[in-house]
Amino acid sequence: MSGLTCAEVRARLFDYLDGLGEAGDRAAMGAHLDACPDCAAELRASEGMERRMRQALAGDRAPDGLWDRVMADIDADAAAGPRGRRFGWPVLATAAAAFAVLLIAVVGLVLPPERRTVPAAALVVEPVNDFITYRLSGRPLDVESADPAKLARWFTGKTESGVPRRIPAPRGFRLVGSRLCYFLNRRLAALMYRTDAGLLSLYVMSDHDIVLPEARPDPAAGRALSSHRVNDHTSLIWRDGGRVYVLVSDLPEAEMRRFVHGLRAALRRAPAAYARVMTTMVTSIAGVSARAGMTSPAKPKQAAAKIQPITPLAMK
Ligand SMILES: [Zn+2]
Repeated sequence: MSGLTCAEVRARLFDYLDGLGEAGDRAAMGAHLDACPDCAAELRASEGMERRMRQALAGDRAPDGLWDRVMADIDADAAAGPRGRRFGWPVLATAAAAFAVLLIAVVGLVLPPERRTVPAAALVVEPVNDFITYRLSGRPLDVESADPAKLARWFTGKTESGVPRRIPAPRGFRLVGSRLCYFLNRRLAALMYRTDAGLLSLYVMSDHDIVLPEARPDPAAGRALSSHRVNDHTSLIWRDGGRVYVLVSDLPEAEMRRFVHGLRAALRRAPAAYARVMTTMVTSIAGVSARAGMTSPAKPKQAAAKIQPITPLAMK
């Protein structure tokens, strides 16, 4: 036998299988494994485990029943003889099981979720169900804030579509915070608004693979909207700039349409920084013109105010 104890060998089995370690250490491991049938059995069990994990991970997702098979293998090996157990097999089994769980979890995070087209019916029903479930749960919001920029920052990287950086609260509605949701096979953002009469949830998601229900033009919104009645709630659905918006509430539909109109109007307005730059430019130009005797200097503020509604440059 080499200088390594069985415990030392077993602690390094996964490294050994992965080809890690100094040449001298690997030679000592090899010598011990040649001479020690117990450790050799552990090595084969570990090899089998690694191979099965690799096969499982070759596809997008772990095959059904993988976990049961791995655990059955572990149980069978552990039951094979008490000596295996004496030499720390439970520890290895626990480590291997944790490793398997970790891999499955990591793969679930890294690989894109299986894509299925979301049918219009699901887009109508699921946001309403989420809204009702949220209210029944009494759960707090993920972020409580009336600052749209803060909420937008919080969602960065958490959902596929994010939320517009300057998503505002339409006049008469208070932005109170946001929630991260998972339904329709994707992570999506819910911005929560309040009026004295009730609560509204605005869901924002990527329009990727979503079939929109039939919509009618709503001139005030500048978009085609579809409107639906589900479980005593109303949902209004529209598409805008690569995103799908779903507004859900039990408020009257007219009130909800007022929200959509206000939201669209606010989104059309130039961002504050842009307006400030334009104001400065116009004021300077007006000042220069006045000094040159071309126009009256009393007007620059009005000229600046007229700049605000310019929209095409400000919109993405
Ligand atoms: Zn040994």
